[in-house]
Amino acid sequence: MFKALLVEKDEAGKTSASVQEIGEDRLPEGDVTVAVEYSTVNYKDGLCIGPGAGLVRDYPHVPGIDFAGTVESSTDDRYKPGDRVVLTGWRVGENRWGGYGEKARVKADMLVPLPQGLTTRQAMAVGTAGLTAMLAIMALEDHGLAPGQGPVLVTGAAGGVGSVATAVLAKLGHEVAAVTGRPETGDYLKGLGATQIVAREDLTEVTRKPLESEVWAGCVDAVAGAMLGRVLKQMKYGTSVAAVGLAGGAAIEGALITPFILRGVNLLGIDSVMQPYENRVRAWGRIARDLPMDRLEEMIQPATLGDLPALGRAILKGEVKGRVVIDVRA
Ligand code: NDP
Repeated sequence: MFKALLVEKDEAGKTSASVQEIGEDRLPEGDVTVAVEYSTVNYKDGLCIGPGAGLVRDYPHVPGIDFAGTVESSTDDRYKPGDRVVLTGWRVGENRWGGYGEKARVKADMLVPLPQGLTTRQAMAVGTAGLTAMLAIMALEDHGLAPGQGPVLVTGAAGGVGSVATAVLAKLGHEVAAVTGRPETGDYLKGLGATQIVAREDLTEVTRKPLESEVWAGCVDAVAGAMLGRVLKQMKYGTSVAAVGLAGGAAIEGALITPFILRGVNLLGIDSVMQPYENRVRAWGRIARDLPMDRLEEMIQPATLGDLPALGRAILKGEVKGRVVIDVRA
């Protein structure tokens, strides 16, 4: 038996989540069984703990889109008992059982060995949000971003993706402008290395202007919506926005085409879910190298499986600061 957060659906279609003891025979098919140590709370987890939103196919369900732990048993040559591993993506926690339990069984292809120098707790303080932030920064670098070109904007900065993006960009020597709708997080964001705090409302007003003054040398955008429409018009010539999420809405508003054709701005879409193995290993390696671990500690909000229903509701409302790390065994 192992302990897990189980989401059940009643006949009226209403879901409820509770911590329960589950038999190991109920784990899904897979090559590798992992003793999970830590998981996290991402926006998608909020959906899977609560309404499902079309992500979860079958109930009862164990959510948790990422986890880190130790291999318990493996039928795949790449992994042996005792290996430390991390998992993000592959729709684990959505259409198969995920990390909100003391045990998880997955396909070996879905795992990445934990990079040297990173603990399972640190790996989950980074988690899917942090991996996505790193993939976004790597995409900006591939398109020419380097320190000294001007301020790099991070939207949704006090959230998970934004916090890690802020800390990594600052460590790499960039000037970081952090956009937040929560002024009280200003000191936290400066502690992560932001040099400038931008109020959310300064970038959410929709204007009819086709272009504005060139300000930003790059952008990691977790918000989309009206803000992305404004930001695109303020990008410097030939720079890029790496768009990862839509916490502020799916529609981009404003005179959209002008930044692309008159300023050669690139809009790069970042998806962490289906990243090839090589990219995930490279990104985790960069995280171990470029993420200041003392700043990572500042982002952590520790929690247990029992806290998850409330945390799921909070992240859907944009109320979570930094990264929630679930100690699955606590
Ligand atoms: P969080 O909830 O931790 O952070 C999102 C932040 O966005 C909030 O903290 C808030 O920041 C800001 N925000 C929330 N609502 C609004 C709004 N209406 N208008 C403007 N800003 C808003 O989520 P994550 O950082 O984990 O994820 C961010 C987005 O990225 C989500 O949409 C998520 O689904 C997506 N994502 C995508 C991935 C991919 O592979 N592409 C992987 C991981 C996440 P503040 O209070 O500072 O303003």
